[in-house]
Amino acid sequence: MSDGRTSKSVRETGDRRTSRSPYPRAVDELIDQFAKLPGIGRRTAERLAFHILKSSEKEAMGLSQAVADVKRTVRHCSICFNLTDQDPCPICSDERRERGVILVVEQPKDLIALEQTGLHRGVYHVLMGHVSPLDDIGPEDLTMSELLRRIDAPAKNSGGIKVTEVVFGLNPTLEGDGTALMLADEIRKREVTVSRLARGLPSGSQLEYVNKAVLADALQGRQKME
Ligand SMILES: [Zn+2]
Repeated sequence: MSDGRTSKSVRETGDRRTSRSPYPRAVDELIDQFAKLPGIGRRTAERLAFHILKSSEKEAMGLSQAVADVKRTVRHCSICFNLTDQDPCPICSDERRERGVILVVEQPKDLIALEQTGLHRGVYHVLMGHVSPLDDIGPEDLTMSELLRRIDAPAKNSGGIKVTEVVFGLNPTLEGDGTALMLADEIRKREVTVSRLARGLPSGSQLEYVNKAVLADALQGRQKME
């Protein structure tokens, strides 16, 4: 490289603080990109950037390729909004599952946590969040209307099968409960059984962090919502 400071700064200036950046532009850009990630501060972003600079070209390109691939190939299932690289997703396409029973969750991470219990034989619907007036998130920002459409038109449901039961597996928080109640009212009008996970889950907890045994109990002891 023609820029004499490059190799030196790569080795020893990871935490230097100056108002004008001491790094080549490309390094600054990489630090800026890392710093946009959740939970990554400026210091950590610099450490990651220097790790990339030190790693082999093959490793660095592997990371860059993985980022490109995930954006190119992974999308939301057009039926359940699970993350998938095929549409419909493998769960919606699986003929052995009870596709008339939909377990409604907030995020793909919750779906994965519940799926790992191995106890839910039905399919899922990912709402992509919960209603939260304080954060300006209303029903129209979620996939509620898509869920109702699956119930109203069996052709829109996984495998074209008629929905007979909807189970709510939202986080046991104020917002999760509120969202479930709002949807339950709509769904009951359609003569579909509405139930929810048993209340063994600690109030305010996040499903993705609840241990598997507790989740399994909550699934098996699901309660009808009257
Ligand atoms: Zn799906």
